[in-house]
Amino acid sequence: MSHPLFDVTGRIALVTGSSRGIGLALARGLAEAGCTVVLNGRDPERLERAAADLPGDVRTSTFDVTDGASVAAGIARTEEEVGPLDILVNNAGMQLRAPLLEFADADWHRLLDTNLTSAFLVGREAARGMTRRGHGKIVNICSLQSEVVRPGIAPYAATKGALKMLTKGMCADWGPYGVQVNGLGPGYIETELTRPLVEDEEFSAWVRRRTPAGRWGRTEDLVGGLLYLVSPAADFVGGQVLYVDGGMSSVL
Ligand code: NDP
Repeated sequence: MSHPLFDVTGRIALVTGSSRGIGLALARGLAEAGCTVVLNGRDPERLERAAADLPGDVRTSTFDVTDGASVAAGIARTEEEVGPLDILVNNAGMQLRAPLLEFADADWHRLLDTNLTSAFLVGREAARGMTRRGHGKIVNICSLQSEVVRPGIAPYAATKGALKMLTKGMCADWGPYGVQVNGLGPGYIETELTRPLVEDEEFSAWVRRRTPAGRWGRTEDLVGGLLYLVSPAADFVGGQVLYVDGGMSSVL
């Protein structure tokens, strides 16, 4: 029998960027735990295909997380059609790798919009109802790179470092209204986003060597951490980032 502290049955959860990869695995985990899950992305057909493969009550909500008007309409529509949100996972994100001297202005803005502004926009709209109702859980998907950086990834790390601080700020603002905000920080996880790195044998071997667990992460590795953070067991945990990285952020 599962412990009641970890019971999230019947909660309504929106996971942004859940058409594939980490978001889809987290959505599956929430659905398996008994949540009503709302998948989000920019392509409605891709979302319907993803939803068809998940157990339980799974809905979709198509909107671009970088566009304020589209976010506000998307959250309002979701709450009207599905019900008030109990859980939000700000997962949508992207990665661009290039040396800073070669990094284009447009890429910088696109990265910031997708990885950081999105969490502000979606978080703010979801928190309007959560703070009014006096409860809610928000988890921002940060990164190992919220803490450390390597050459060629400074703009991405800057967005994820800022997302960590936004997580603490959201906790400060919304914690008094019963809304708990934390971060989940994946290490190197095999997804479409990291495919070029996985296919680079030298880099891939470096990841395995540098990770105490001795392997790349799988999307399913992140589910337990998320379920903890959105469950009553974490009701007094706020503004923290839980790193799920096989130990990589702890070693030199
Ligand atoms: P993927 O590229 O596999 O998936 C990204 C998801 O985000 C897709 O579902 C995509 O949906 C969605 N998305 C992208 N832009 C938007 C947008 N503007 N509006 C709505 N949805 C959008 O990435 P991962 O699963 O690997 O990464 C997920 C998160 O985890 C990201 O925030 C990433 O930074 C973070 N992370 C990943 C790590 C890894 O090793 N993979 C490590 C640390 C953190 P669609 O294209 O259908 O719109």
